[in-house]
Amino acid sequence: MFGKVLIANRGEIALRIQRACRELGIKTVAVHSDVDREAKYVKLADESVCIGPAPSAASYLNVPAIISAAEVTDAEAIHPGYGFLSENADFAERVEKSGFVFIGPRAETIRLMGDKVSAKNAMKKAGVPTVPGFDAELPEVPEEIIKIARGIGYPVIVKAAGGGGGRGMRVVHTEAALLNAVHTTRTEAQAAFGNPSVYMERFFESPRHVEIQVMADKHRNAVYLGDRDCSMQRRHQKIIEEAPAPGINPRARARIGERCAEACRKIGYEGAGTFEFLYENDEFYFIEMNTRIQVEHPVTEMVTGLDLVQMQLRVAAGEKLSIKQRDVETRGHSIECRINAEDPFRFTPSPGRITTFHMPGGPGVRVDSHAYNNYVIPPNYDSLIGKLIVYGDTRDQAIARMQVALSETVVEGIKTNIPLHVDLMRDAAFRAGGTNIHYLETKLAGYARGT
Ligand code: ADP
Repeated sequence: MFGKVLIANRGEIALRIQRACRELGIKTVAVHSDVDREAKYVKLADESVCIGPAPSAASYLNVPAIISAAEVTDAEAIHPGYGFLSENADFAERVEKSGFVFIGPRAETIRLMGDKVSAKNAMKKAGVPTVPGFDAELPEVPEEIIKIARGIGYPVIVKAAGGGGGRGMRVVHTEAALLNAVHTTRTEAQAAFGNPSVYMERFFESPRHVEIQVMADKHRNAVYLGDRDCSMQRRHQKIIEEAPAPGINPRARARIGERCAEACRKIGYEGAGTFEFLYENDEFYFIEMNTRIQVEHPVTEMVTGLDLVQMQLRVAAGEKLSIKQRDVETRGHSIECRINAEDPFRFTPSPGRITTFHMPGGPGVRVDSHAYNNYVIPPNYDSLIGKLIVYGDTRDQAIARMQVALSETVVEGIKTNIPLHVDLMRDAAFRAGGTNIHYLETKLAGYARGT
C-alpha cells in the first residue's frame, strides 16, 4: 500500500478521500488554493501545499503546481477526486510520466471514454446496449444530416462528442429546426470543449437515469456494485440519488451489471467507474461512462457495506479485488440529498460565512461535509457544501429517516436547498419511486407559476 497520497481536490470529496487514507494508515498531502487555506481537511492533512490563487485554472487545474507539490512532499500517488482534473487523460499521463501513480484508470481508457462517440462504440462492441443513433461525427452535408435524423426518427438530440456537465446538447423536434440546431451545437462545442464534433441520437421523452457502479483491478477482475437512480435532476445536475433504483427487476439489474463488468474486463478498465444509462420501458441504454469516483458513491457504500475509496486505493496500489461478484450483496435502501449553498427555488449561489452549522445524527445517518460553524464558502467553486445520506431497511424507512435528518439540520448565515429537499421528501410521486429525469423541472415550473 502507498505510504503517502496527494489529494488533488477540495471540499467534501477531499475530506472523504483523506478519511479513507487515514484509516488505511496512508499519510495525506492536501493541496489548496489560497482561499481554501483554512479548510478543515487542509488542517487535518499530514502536509499541505498552496498551489495557487482562488480561480480553479490557477490552482486546482494547475497541473505543473500539483505535480511539483507531489515531488516536494514525496507522495507516491495522486487521487483526483471528481470534477477538476479527474477525467483529464493528459493529466493522468503527466502524473504517471512524472513517476507517480494516478488513482484511476489508464490515460488511454480515460481518453476513450472522454469522447462520447468512441465510448458508445466501445461499449456497443463490448455488448452493452446503447442509445440508438448515429454513432459517428455528423457529416457536413445538409442532405446527409437530414437523412440521418429521419433514420433515427424525431425527436432527436444533437450532442457534443466532447461534452460534459450537462452542456453541449440540443433537442430537435422537427426537420425545420434540424440544421440550425446542428450548427449551433457545433459552434458551442468548439467554444466550450475545443472540439466541434457532434453526433445524434434518439431523444427519450421520459427516461429515468439509472447507473451501474463498477470496480476493477489491474488483473482483469471486475465486479459491479449494484445500481443507483439519479433521475431527480435540474439542468442535468443530480440533486437526489438513491440505491437501489426503485422498481427495477433484480434479474434485469444483474444482467446489465454483468454486461458492464464484462465490458471492464474487455477494455482492461482499472479502478472505480460508472456506466450511465437512460432507462425507459424496462430497457437500459448506455449514454456515457464516468471514469472516476462520483458524488453519489455513498449510497452504494451504504447498501453494499463497501468502502469504494479504499477499494480505489487498493486496486491502484496493484492489489487484486478482495471480493468476487457472488460476495457482493446489497441490503436495504439508501438516499442522498446534495446540500447546496444556493437559493432553494431560484438556485442563485449563496456563498459566504456559515454562522450556525448543526448536522443530524442517529442510526443510519451519514454526513459527508467539509463545512463547520464559521466556515466561509468561497464564491469561486461549485455550491455543494455537503451530502446528507441515510440508510433504511426499506425505501419508506429511508425516506422517513431523511425527513427526520433534514428537520434536525440547521445551516444559518447562507441559503441552502434544504427546503427543496424537505418538499421533495413529501412529494407523492417521489415517494412512489421511479420519477423520470424531467420530473423536477416540471415541478419547479409549477412553483414558478404558483400552482
Ligand atoms: P454530460 O456528460 O454532460 O452529463 P450525458 O450524456 O451524461 O451528458 O447526458 C446528461 C443528461 O442529459 C442525461 O442524464 C439525460 O438527462 C439527458 N440526456 C442525454 N442524452 C439523452 C437522450 N438521448 N434522450 C433524453 N435525454 C438525454
